Amino acid sequence: MGHGTKNHDMSHGPRPMSQKLRIAHVSHVPRLEFMLMRNERARLAKALKQHIEGLNALGISALPKERTSMEGQPVSPPTKEAQLVLRPDCFDESGSALVPSGPIDQLNLVEALAKLSKEVSLCQRCPLYRTRTHPVVSDGSPSARLVFVGEAPGREEDLRGIPFVGAAGQLLTKMIEAMGFKRQDVYICNVLKDRPPGNRTPLPEEMEACLPFLKAQLAIVQPRVICVLGAIAAKALLGPHVAITKIRGTLMEYEGIPVIPTFHPAYLLRNPPAKKFAWEDLKRVKQLLEIQGQGAGDGGRG
Ligand code: SF4
Repeated sequence: MGHGTKNHDMSHGPRPMSQKLRIAHVSHVPRLEFMLMRNERARLAKALKQHIEGLNALGISALPKERTSMEGQPVSPPTKEAQLVLRPDCFDESGSALVPSGPIDQLNLVEALAKLSKEVSLCQRCPLYRTRTHPVVSDGSPSARLVFVGEAPGREEDLRGIPFVGAAGQLLTKMIEAMGFKRQDVYICNVLKDRPPGNRTPLPEEMEACLPFLKAQLAIVQPRVICVLGAIAAKALLGPHVAITKIRGTLMEYEGIPVIPTFHPAYLLRNPPAKKFAWEDLKRVKQLLEIQGQGAGDGGRG
């Protein structure tokens, strides 16, 4: 991923670089291309299988011949404006086209996130844009050291365009304050930027379509610790096979950034006894920040 590099704080050592594909011999290129095509076919087949399984899980066993909206109305093709905005280079797997290539200072940090928000507002990569009231990109400080990643906007979030403002959001705010931080000092976002109708679980293809935005957000904000909230966020950043009940509280890693998974606040509202486990996880998050000699907020970007 084309991460920008902070120009203000070298005390924590260089950040790990993304792995780059190296082609050692030109004579190997056709074979490499063949392997990449085969991998791509396998990836598409897997995505299609997940898609069908997701539809079956929703009780859908047959699809209409023409594309329809959630209400069953025929859908027109993407607008010209959206076609212009949906440049293929913006949506590689890493979202790197949305990340500034040079050092990220306070000014281009804000500019980069504004550009990302604009891209989200014009995005039609999955059907969720049709039913959203507002896209929900983030809340809190762009220069935060601690990022919380949730699942997707709910009804309240969709109406207000701000993540975690419903009942689960109020609990998250209390959890942040219990850690000794303020909500405005951390950065809060979701895997999906648009609300799935009825707050249903995001489909795998919706997560895949939206993930470049989250990856770009993390590459721009460059937090010191990420706390993933719930199964969907954990799967998005740590792999499709992780189980939140097994990995919660475990120190993991995303692109060289320490990650602590914990339960989603909505789950905690339904299962109050699990709050004590979430609190243990949050204490680990705080310890990680303290080890680095920092709180949750701005560490002094240039
Ligand atoms: S949920 Fe994400 S990928 Fe789908 S339309 Fe909204 S912004 Fe685009």
